[in-house]
Amino acid sequence: MKRILAAALLLAATTASATERWELQSNFWVNLHQTLLAAAQQDADLPLTDAERGSWTASVTAYRLRFGDRLPFADDDLTRINDALSNSGDGVPDSIGPELAGVLNAAAPLYRRKMWPADDRANRFWISAARGLLAETSEELAAEHSRVYGAPFPARVRVDVTPFAGELGAYTTASNGFVHTTVSSRDAGYQGFAALEMLFHEASHAIVGPTNGAIGPDIQSDAQKAGVLAPRQLWHAVLFYTSGELTRRALRTRGVSEYQPYAYRQQMYDRAFRGLQRPLETHWQAFLNGTLSRADALANLVNATGIPPIPRVPGG
Ligand SMILES: [Zn+2]
Repeated sequence: MKRILAAALLLAATTASATERWELQSNFWVNLHQTLLAAAQQDADLPLTDAERGSWTASVTAYRLRFGDRLPFADDDLTRINDALSNSGDGVPDSIGPELAGVLNAAAPLYRRKMWPADDRANRFWISAARGLLAETSEELAAEHSRVYGAPFPARVRVDVTPFAGELGAYTTASNGFVHTTVSSRDAGYQGFAALEMLFHEASHAIVGPTNGAIGPDIQSDAQKAGVLAPRQLWHAVLFYTSGELTRRALRTRGVSEYQPYAYRQQMYDRAFRGLQRPLETHWQAFLNGTLSRADALANLVNATGIPPIPRVPGG
């Protein structure tokens, strides 16, 4: 993570515009890879006839055997493959190995004929909408995120737009300083103005983490000081709240008065972030408003949400 931050800092000085910061693309091989992964891991419903499904099954089975239920955002092998495919041109790069190259090359003709035209059209539509939003707001939002996290926002972000992008519809990896977001063009949660919020949310994962980068380590040390256990998802809820609120503000100053951030719209405060909404709206909002320091806001958040550890029963 230190290397990533140093690289981001170096690039931050030279980056000046949205088009330099965000590299959005619709890449055939990434789309095929993500579609096979979704078929293997999520039984994704694909527009194939029974006969076509037969020839596709061998590729899906190969993916299931090789990747099982490995999470694409937490798996070195899947990260390396997705990065290599993202940087590929017309063909499959050698670096992914002959076995996987064989699976992709075998599945490519059917995918290209049956699914790619519609997928590519959806991706390109999503990209053109996102580019418009970024052109007007990107540098303002990047500066705000940098200020809030006390860390430079990534100066370069590769964004691969695909029909599928893991179980949550988007994920980000940052291997060897390559900040790489994969996002779904078909997931309703990432469409419209939400595309803007979620692009910033996703790229923030390169500088905010549970145990490294910004926020997470501060929460851990505050919890230790207070003698409590912080909610496991608190760092991620802070990330959601921040990009949601900063995006809402950027949109409001541009005439959009009714934007509802992703976490509210997807009812995350009733599920993964249960119990965190009010503390975030009180303490983290005060920091975003400039009436409380980041350190005090995080300490207050931990005090409001932390639970005392269960005491050890002697001899138990
Ligand atoms: Zn996230």
